[in-house]
Amino acid sequence: MEATGARRAPHRGGPSGARDEAEELAAAILAGEAPAFDPYTGARPGTGGPPSPGARAGLEAPRYCQICGRRMVVQILPHGWRARCSRHGAVESRWLER
Ligand SMILES: [Zn+2]
Repeated sequence: MEATGARRAPHRGGPSGARDEAEELAAAILAGEAPAFDPYTGARPGTGGPPSPGARAGLEAPRYCQICGRRMVVQILPHGWRARCSRHGAVESRWLER
């Protein structure tokens, strides 16, 4: 995986409704890529405590982009949550439900 900021083609066939936004974050999460930053604390993995069980289960909205560590805009939705990084796009809890 390259983290140079170069654009890469987003994976299609995943979340729908994110057509004109960057999909890098959603693609990384859906692909199960190891986060470069903790989505709940913004810390580098290994520097903080273990994630809460709720966070691990995806019940808790992430507050930080796992790719760049930026604080994300989090919206609580009737069916879950939506979090958006200004650079890497949005992710919604329902996209993570299988
Ligand atoms: Zn980001």
